Amino acid sequence: MIGLSTQNAIPIMTWVAAKLVSGAERLAIAAAQTTASAAMKIQDKASGQKKLKMRAWLSPGSESVAAFGSAAEAVLKPTFYRPDRRSWGYASASRMKLHEYQAKELLARFGVPVPAGEVATNAEEALRIARSLGGKTVVKAQVLMGGRGKAGGVRLFDNAEEAAHFAGELIGKRLVSPQNPTGMVVEKVLVVTQVDIAAEFYVAVLLDRAKQCSTLMLSAAGGMEIEEVAATNPSAIVRVPIDPAWGVADFQLRDAVRRAKIPTRAQSPLVALMKRLVKAAAEVDADLVEVNPCALTPDGSIVAADAKVVIDDNALFRHPEYSSTADASAEDPIEAQATRQGIAYVRLGGDIGVIGNGAGLVMCSLDEVSAAGGRPANFLDVGGGAQAERVKECVGLVMLDPNVKGLLINIFGGITRCDEVARGLLQAFDELNVRIPVVARIEGTAAEEGRKLLEGSRLVAAETMQEAARKIVELAYA
Ligand code: GDP
Ligand code: MN
Repeated sequence: MIGLSTQNAIPIMTWVAAKLVSGAERLAIAAAQTTASAAMKIQDKASGQKKLKMRAWLSPGSESVAAFGSAAEAVLKPTFYRPDRRSWGYASASRMKLHEYQAKELLARFGVPVPAGEVATNAEEALRIARSLGGKTVVKAQVLMGGRGKAGGVRLFDNAEEAAHFAGELIGKRLVSPQNPTGMVVEKVLVVTQVDIAAEFYVAVLLDRAKQCSTLMLSAAGGMEIEEVAATNPSAIVRVPIDPAWGVADFQLRDAVRRAKIPTRAQSPLVALMKRLVKAAAEVDADLVEVNPCALTPDGSIVAADAKVVIDDNALFRHPEYSSTADASAEDPIEAQATRQGIAYVRLGGDIGVIGNGAGLVMCSLDEVSAAGGRPANFLDVGGGAQAERVKECVGLVMLDPNVKGLLINIFGGITRCDEVARGLLQAFDELNVRIPVVARIEGTAAEEGRKLLEGSRLVAAETMQEAARKIVELAYA
């Protein structure tokens, strides 16, 4: 059976629905499509990219929305059911996150006040920058995760020498935060002028998928405890829906700062800043623009002391200038490798490798692995008509993930010939020295020949995909 399982139908349809918001041109195409693979092809057309929109709902703990740590996203009602977590999750996380320094550059172009600063990749550069800024600086790890402050990735200094010393220690170090337990290695630091902070506010503009419009979120309780506020007292975060056609009116923003109990003297500059954030978010097709802390200085001005921006990668074709700012270090290394090889692979964070042909069949396989009590390590579609060499490459790619304890192969031969697949698998086992259990369900064109080829190999055969999933879970976790 090739197609959509009921568990997957909901997120895929939600995804299609969510995409309707971001462009009328996609509406007509999207509405005409119903299957998972069709949905993915739409995306290819729109963006010229091959990224899949499945990571968030299939991948517990992998680099996802949560890892970037946006409090506002935690407040919004998630929009669909995630079978893997038995909970509700977000529709899309295959998005382009910008580093803080990139986000600040972007916002500055829209007139948002940001502290002066520069990026350094070593202590000497940091020293030069810190000196040029007068010494009183903040050194900030440029990693795409939330909670850097708590993780020890942000520190304030009174002189350039200490700032440079810290920068040298930070570069090359792995930062771990509650939002990102696996952590990320620091390759760059941002050295900025220290802002004198009298109060910290929280402002974000993000896509509310449930309401199908962008929403502005505002809180007087900004800073590092905002996650706590979002979790325990979400009503302390004021929301303003942004009409897709009309935008947001001044009176709505003035009402919002009053409702959020922003101190009177900060209200006007904050309203001005929020207008700029809303404009920036719309013009760069951002899913998220977040400023936390949005700092009030003792002299009453407002400065973006931190910034997160996520650009909807479906809209990247409209913003070629940002595709070059996408930082390669942000990508999962295996996904980056897959992109270079032109293989549709998404890392999901589990430990059962999955290879199949056709996106729908692969997703069914993921569901079956989950249903059998396993945790899928990846999505991988070998594509139609795969030759032995391609199959071998795919096995190699899945094996790059050190967590993989077992491999499930699910092939339904149509234009793909099962004997070709079998030859590729045999080559892969031979050359890559695969030692983990492998279960294969091979059906369709030339299945008989394929199964014959695999006889006597270390591969375990299964009749159905359910049986294959049960077997691999049993063998891998034995
Ligand atoms: P995050 O923890 O990853 O969100 O990193 P932030 O850039 O928000 O920094 C963490 C915390 O450091 C902020 O909440 C501020 O309290 C503090 N901080 C950052 N920059 C400055 C600054 O220029 N001046 C002062 N006084 N505090 C800062
Ligand atoms: Mn912050």
